[in-house]
Parts: sequence; C-alpha cells; structure tokens
Amino acid sequence: MKKKVISALLSVAMVASLLVGCGAAKEEAAAPAATEEAAPAATEEAAPAAEEAAPAAESNGNKVGVAMPTKDLQRWNQDGANMQAELEAAGYEVDLQYASNDVQTQVSQVENMVNSGCSVIVIAAIEGSSLGDPLAQAKAAGIPVIAYDRLLMNSDAVSYYATFDNYMVGTKQGQYIADTLDLENADGPFNMEITAGDPGDNNAGYFYQGAIDVLQKYIDAGKIVIPSGQVDFATVATPSWATETAQSRAENILSSNYADGKNLDIWLCSNDSTAMGVENALAANYTGNYPIITGQDCDIENVKNMIAGKQSMSIFKDTRTLASQVVKMTGQILAGETVDVNDTKTYDNGSLVVPSFLCEPVFADVNNYKELLIDSGYYTEDQLK
Ligand code: BGC
Repeated sequence: MKKKVISALLSVAMVASLLVGCGAAKEEAAAPAATEEAAPAATEEAAPAAEEAAPAAESNGNKVGVAMPTKDLQRWNQDGANMQAELEAAGYEVDLQYASNDVQTQVSQVENMVNSGCSVIVIAAIEGSSLGDPLAQAKAAGIPVIAYDRLLMNSDAVSYYATFDNYMVGTKQGQYIADTLDLENADGPFNMEITAGDPGDNNAGYFYQGAIDVLQKYIDAGKIVIPSGQVDFATVATPSWATETAQSRAENILSSNYADGKNLDIWLCSNDSTAMGVENALAANYTGNYPIITGQDCDIENVKNMIAGKQSMSIFKDTRTLASQVVKMTGQILAGETVDVNDTKTYDNGSLVVPSFLCEPVFADVNNYKELLIDSGYYTEDQLK
C-alpha cells in the first residue's frame, strides 16, 4: 500500500516537476510530459536546449551527484525524483543516492561521487556535521558542492546553499497559533506542548526558534503555559525526525500531565512526521478538546489528517521550486556564470557564511489545500482520499 502511494507520487512528482520549471528548456518539455509515458520523451526533447544552457558541463563532464538522506519520509522521495527529472531534462547524467538515514552510508556515497567524476555534488545531509571528510575530498578535487535544504556544517567546501526560509517556517507556525487563539486579546491560559526536530539537522533549530520567537511574549505573559515544563530545544527535539520517537514522548507527556482531564490546547510540532506521532498518541491517550497541531511538508497522510480535522495546518514547501532552483544553480556554476543567491548573511556553517537561495514556504490548511496542492498538480485528488 505504502509502496503504491510512493510510486504514484513519484510519477506525479516527476511529471509535475517538468510542468513548473523556470527555464525555457523545461517549459518546452512540459507539454509532452503530461502523461507518465511521455516523461522520457521530454528528457530527449529537452537535451538540445540544455546543451546551450550549460556549455561548461561538457568540458567538466556532465554528471551531477545527488545525495538524499532517506526514502522513509515522503518529502525526500519527491525531492530526489524532482532533482533527477529536472537534471536529466537539462541534459545531465544523474547519480541519485539515498542513505537510509545512515550517516556512514552517506559518507561513502559522497566519496563515490567524488571518485566517479561528478562535476557538481548536491547533498541533503542526514547530519550536517558528519560529512567533513568527503567534503574536503570534493574541494581537493575542485568539485563544487551545493547544500540542499539542510546546511552542511563546519566545512569550507560548501559552495552554495538552497533551501526554504527555515526561520520563516517557524514564524508561520507560531503566528498561526497566535492568530487562531487571538492571543493578543485572549487571556488564556492555554496549555501547550512542543515537539521539535532532529538536533543533527541545522534546520530544526531555526524552525523551533522562529515559532518560539513569536510565542515567547505570550508565554511570558502567562497566556500560554507548558504543563510538562519541557521547553528548551534539547528536551523537545526528536532524533531523526522519527514519528515513533515523537509518539512515545507524546504518550509520556499525556499520561504524566493530562490524564487528570486537563485540556491540551496547542501542540507545536515542527514538521509532519513529528505531528503524526503526536496525532497517533492523542488518538489513543487523550479525550479532551482536540488541540491546534502545526506541521510542515504537506505529507499526504498529514493532509488527510488536516482534512479530517486531526491536524490544523502544515507548511507547504514546493519541492519542485527547490529542485528547479538547484538545477539552475548547477547550470550557472558549470557555465561559470554568477549564481543566483538572495541571502549572504544568515547561514554561517561554522567555517563560512554560505551564499544561499531561500525559497518561500507557504501556509497550508483545510481552506487552501485544494488550490495549493491539487490545482498546482502537486497531488491528485485521489491521493488525498
Ligand atoms: C526539512 C523538513 C523536513 C525534515 C524531516 C528538514 O530538514 O527541512 O522539510 O520535515 O527535515 O525530513
């Protein structure tokens, strides 16, 4: 069942990615790519345009390595499929690897990409600080590295970073809570719990901090209280963003603090995989008023929960936009052109401030999901049933 959904998703994602590309080559490819069978044809058609777009790719070889963290979470399947489809449509050979969330596997995969002559390596790290050695090898071999979605830490071998505005993801989650409960005017107190992301992922701190920066004044004013007392990032973090870990922590919090019938008003969750854990825990262990629950990614199962009233909102990060941007960066790097960035201050990785392109995350809820997700071709209506 899960496999079927993922493969349906992949074909939609691959087709969809061809429909939204920003370059002329991709627009040309869009029409024939409207069916699954047409995808390879689109790749062939796009090839001549790509030759014009990235002349340097030929002199340096035209293989691009794409290292993704895991197939377990839906979004990385979409990211990988979009990257592969867009790179191939632009005429590149692609070495796409998934590492089952195992750091050592990802280290070996990136080493192989260096040794097998990739011209550019794109990496969505499992743990931002663990790729120092292969990154140093890439630098020694003159291979530019693009950090994809998650910053690569403590290395001077990172050329560029493309992501969604991570802090903004958090502020949108926090603002949603403030607006929904009218915290400017309401007295509360409202009971809140917090579930954040993987401490090894540099993004997780930004998501958490963005939300807390919006909510802190209401916490200070006593309008929001946190019955478990678990507030600081290290305590509320979820290693590997694992649903099961988020669920068991939520079960403990519910049994220790809410078994007496106390109402829970808000569960701030940094993303959909952790929100799912909280939603599972609530279903089995809580009978009070259903809380506001935030999320991120618009994963299919979470959008279904949103429709069913079990999750209040999510953040839509259109992985097609990010993939398009990274493919554009790749072409610009290989052609020796100026690379588009829009942030040169925020992302200090401990060795340098990495020039970044931040895409804008979008708020999604039950009122706008159709327009955002179905009308845009991201999902079909059937996938959300
Ligand atoms: C991504 C999120 C995702 C999380 C778990 C983060 O780095 O930015 O979109 O929910 O990883 O995969």
